[in-house]
Amino acid sequence: MPVNTILYQEIIKNLRVANVTLVAVSKTKPVEDIQEMMNLGQLDFGENYVQELAEKQSQILQDVRWHFIGHLQTNKVKQIVPFVHLIHSVDSFRLLKEINKQAEKLGRKVDCLLQMHIAQEETKFGMNETELSEVLDAIPTLLNVQIKGLMGMASLTDDTEQVRSEYRYLSNLYQQLQTIPLCGSFSILSMGMSSDYKIAIEEGSTMVRIGSLLFGERNYNGSK
Ligand SMILES: *Cc1c(COP(=O)(O)O)cnc(C)c1O
Repeated sequence: MPVNTILYQEIIKNLRVANVTLVAVSKTKPVEDIQEMMNLGQLDFGENYVQELAEKQSQILQDVRWHFIGHLQTNKVKQIVPFVHLIHSVDSFRLLKEINKQAEKLGRKVDCLLQMHIAQEETKFGMNETELSEVLDAIPTLLNVQIKGLMGMASLTDDTEQVRSEYRYLSNLYQQLQTIPLCGSFSILSMGMSSDYKIAIEEGSTMVRIGSLLFGERNYNGSK
């Protein structure tokens, strides 16, 4: 399945006008597809399985900014900390502490986003506001992570008003946090995927994660 070059050019043009960064979500797609996107000038790629990301990272020698966007288990943190550009999916204090610990071992400071639970579904990962404030309180003690902002996934629904209200909630929270000194340097609000990125941008997203629109539908073959 070839990369959709025309759509890529169109999307990147629109995002540039809105000052939004594109993370091309390459999960389940072969390294050749990533290379093809890189030839178009794309540098930011998102993956959500640790094993798959580690394999692709070892095969692609050029500089890629790898974004980890899936649920991250604490015992797998050390596999990605050496090279990851941004972890979007920090959904617990425990996970953040482990990232900090592994980063400290390598003398790195790892950029992270805090993932908030904004969808109606029970299954989507993310923190509530109580957990968020616990993490924010601890930020000054975690010297090897840098919190850059928030991430969220809206409900999987055709109800665009529902999606819009979830993104609006996250965007308001993000703006509120930016007014407190601890979060004054927040600069990334990661929200929006293939089906809803336009709504997300209207609601203030600064970074969208788009997969199937660029690379075609994913075929999981039951393995992933
Ligand atoms: C797969 C995935 C995406 C991209 O989804 P598409 O619908 O293919 O654009 C974005 N964010 C996360 C967290 C994902 O797992």
